[in-house]
Amino acid sequence: MFKKFVVATSLNTEMIDITSRVQEIVAGIKIDTGLCCVFIPHTTAGITINENADPAVRRDMLVELNKIVPQRDYFTHIEGNSAAHIKASLIGSSVTVPVEAGKLALGTWQGIYFCEFDGPRAREVWVQITG
Ligand code: ZN
Repeated sequence: MFKKFVVATSLNTEMIDITSRVQEIVAGIKIDTGLCCVFIPHTTAGITINENADPAVRRDMLVELNKIVPQRDYFTHIEGNSAAHIKASLIGSSVTVPVEAGKLALGTWQGIYFCEFDGPRAREVWVQITG
């Protein structure tokens, strides 16, 4: 089963919780046990799993990523968004979550985050579920 949805980002850099949208897709296909791969077809955005309780964690992650990869440096990429490309590779472009009893088997404090690094834009998230 393969589905897509769109995430409209509103800032240059932000982390958006997409857990409930992925869970909706999992619930819609009525599978009991399997694997859910969430993939993003972009080179200046990422996807990760992290804490869903305190939004300060997301803020801290973005602040530290900006220290690791400054917005401006001696980059040669003509488009001028090398920082976004580098952050995208650091974070990665897919996560895989087990599906148990028809639900994403995430830890209590885990959420799935779309990470925008060159927004705002309309982005796609692709979901492939096997089981
Ligand atoms: Zn570029």
